[in-house]
Amino acid sequence: MTFDTLGLQAELLRAVVETGYSTPTPVQQKAIPAVLDGGDILAGAQTGTGKTAAFTLPMLQRLNASTKPGGKRPVRGLILTPTRELAAQIGESVTTYGRYMPLSSSVIFGGVNIRPQINTLRKGVDIVVATPGRLLDHVSQKTLDLSQVEIVVLDEADRMLDMGFIHDIRKILALLPQKRQSLLFSATFSSEIKSISLP
Ligand code: AMP
Repeated sequence: MTFDTLGLQAELLRAVVETGYSTPTPVQQKAIPAVLDGGDILAGAQTGTGKTAAFTLPMLQRLNASTKPGGKRPVRGLILTPTRELAAQIGESVTTYGRYMPLSSSVIFGGVNIRPQINTLRKGVDIVVATPGRLLDHVSQKTLDLSQVEIVVLDEADRMLDMGFIHDIRKILALLPQKRQSLLFSATFSSEIKSISLP
């Protein structure tokens, strides 16, 4: 099994090869074609399984295909994750895998000055990687509009719930368009997790 059998475009395959990957991991083999098809997914995956590329690669491809030319672009991809470390790591993956595509991304987390984040968002970014609390700060300050999001990823959903983010997540999901693609990754599945995965 190789990456080019999964339906990924040349720009992404080139970035993957340069990153040094030759074989997709099991979660990548399953998730990439399903996400490219436009389906919602609920994936059981621990850290270290390659889940970041499993959602980032097909998300980049779909957003690149639906980019409308001209003007300030709205946020169309949203990745929620529990910690600033994970947000930073995912942000790096988005930059690495997307380096041959004309998509921009930004990482948003709390505990740091909000001003530089506001300045970046004002210019317009296609993909936001964020922790839930700071994301909602931006929404309430009207520095971020989530009404055009096409794909949302809940990464490490069980950890986000363990950390008390359930209300924030529900609020964020309510701000997204009803018609969207939802990708949920979690190491464990409770009924609460299943309930947030339903659009
Ligand atoms: P993740 O589960 O997304 O945190 O990824 C765990 C680690 O696996 C990261 O260091 C990735 O760079 C690496 N990785 C992801 N996909 C592959 C792959 N197909 N082949 C080899 N390494 C990979």
